[in-house]
Amino acid sequence: MTNFDYDSIDLSALPPETEPARQRYFIARLRRWTKKREQELGRPVTACVTSFGCQMNAHDSEKLSGVLLASGFHPADSEDADFVIYNTCTVRENADQRVYGRLGRAGSIRRRRPGMMIALTGCMMQEKPVIEKLKKSYPFVDIIFGNKNNYKLAELIAEHIDSGKQVIDILDGNRKIVEDLPAEHKYSFKSGVNIMYGCNNFCSYCIVPYVTGREQSRRPEDILGEVRDLAAHGVVEVMLLGQNVNSYGKTLETPVTFAQLLREVEKVPGIRRIRFMTPHPKDLSDELIDTMAGSTKICRHVHLPLQSGSSRILEKMNRHYTKEQYLALVRKIRERIPGVSVTADIIVGFPGETEEDFRETLDVVRKAAFDGAFTFLYSKRSGTPAARMEDQVPGDVMKYRFDRLLALMQEVGSAMCEKHVGEVQEVLVDGADDHRAGWVSGRLSNNTLVHFPGSAELSGRFVNVRLDQSKGFYYLGTFSGMADER
Ligand code: SAH
Ligand code: SF4
Repeated sequence: MTNFDYDSIDLSALPPETEPARQRYFIARLRRWTKKREQELGRPVTACVTSFGCQMNAHDSEKLSGVLLASGFHPADSEDADFVIYNTCTVRENADQRVYGRLGRAGSIRRRRPGMMIALTGCMMQEKPVIEKLKKSYPFVDIIFGNKNNYKLAELIAEHIDSGKQVIDILDGNRKIVEDLPAEHKYSFKSGVNIMYGCNNFCSYCIVPYVTGREQSRRPEDILGEVRDLAAHGVVEVMLLGQNVNSYGKTLETPVTFAQLLREVEKVPGIRRIRFMTPHPKDLSDELIDTMAGSTKICRHVHLPLQSGSSRILEKMNRHYTKEQYLALVRKIRERIPGVSVTADIIVGFPGETEEDFRETLDVVRKAAFDGAFTFLYSKRSGTPAARMEDQVPGDVMKYRFDRLLALMQEVGSAMCEKHVGEVQEVLVDGADDHRAGWVSGRLSNNTLVHFPGSAELSGRFVNVRLDQSKGFYYLGTFSGMADER
């Protein structure tokens, strides 16, 4: 968030070799370019960033926006802009399809918008067949780069402007971690913070380890420095992000556990809420549970991906836990952390999943009494072991199971939600309610959404709200006083 004086950079010198100085140099060059372009056009030069993926993808987009803003682009909320970038996801096939659809549309805007640039980044760009397809069928894409080197945005735009040619820059192997580049946060009072990149787990259905590389942790001092900086700029809630946060710190020169990191983040003055995503059930430690139980800042929410309730399928998924171990873990979390909510990711239709296996999943949903879940139809990702497995489940069977899971999840989730009706709880207000004029929305510590009548001026404030009515996965409530001072 620190403001950097780009105009003090000497552009007559060669670009520095080291980061972040090199990217700052290119940002300074782009500032000069956007200024000139604005004069030519007689209007602001605009950029539109679109995210297709998970929380980490959205957080990466904030960094892309930060670089674009620092480079002199003005934010645009539609693709009718001078610079359009899609931050892609590839975890399921439909995410890929959506990108191609949007790209087609951007291509037609480009035909009537001279000088418009189109860029693609994100996990999907780490797949070789995708790059081949883009080269062949989408020659109008100006810049293509992966998620592992997305810090290079300014440099690649400059390279494209200089050469007038398509620029492709994909990094194999591990990402390079570059600190201290600008970011533009969607909310002024809450922010994601990457604590690690990559994944070593190789769940058999999942493409993430192939497109993000091996696990790499950021140094605790860099993470804490960023959290302090965010807090100094008014951020009160941070979400620590990684594909498997329990593995945080294992590969550092001086190893640190995730729970230790949480305890350090907790000490940062000004931070009032800490969230994290995602822990893996196979190595969620007692130390972490105890740290959460003893904390007033770590939110009462554990997102604990289940994937399947059948131990047989879990083994084929390479998840390293059984149904019983998962349920015991949920029990322990609920016992030790009063008021905690537990949510999950669940995949329906993994190859070889029988009706019996699926019923085990339903059984876990009931027994774990999830407060919520993201449910997914299994999507075959080429290159993963599961894609080569026999007995791929037919689409109609998958869909039938999916609908039953959703119905059960609604029943179980609403029963959990109902339990807190009548309580007064603290809400961090996000802003105006999208659907009701004169109402605002915010989240409880346990991550449940609450809507209540109030002014948008409450955004970023902690208020006490009485939870009047459960609507299944969210509440309607009434303001019952400010809760800011602590
Ligand atoms: N690292 C996290 C999340 C990774 S991706 C974790 O392990 O939980 C987010 C979710 O997408 C996963 O939890 C899984 O439920 C889902 N997912 C991943 N690959 C998938 C696939 N091939 N088909 C359907 N869902 C998938
Ligand atoms: Fe994918 Fe498994 Fe890694 Fe999560 S832990 S990103 S599901 S391989």
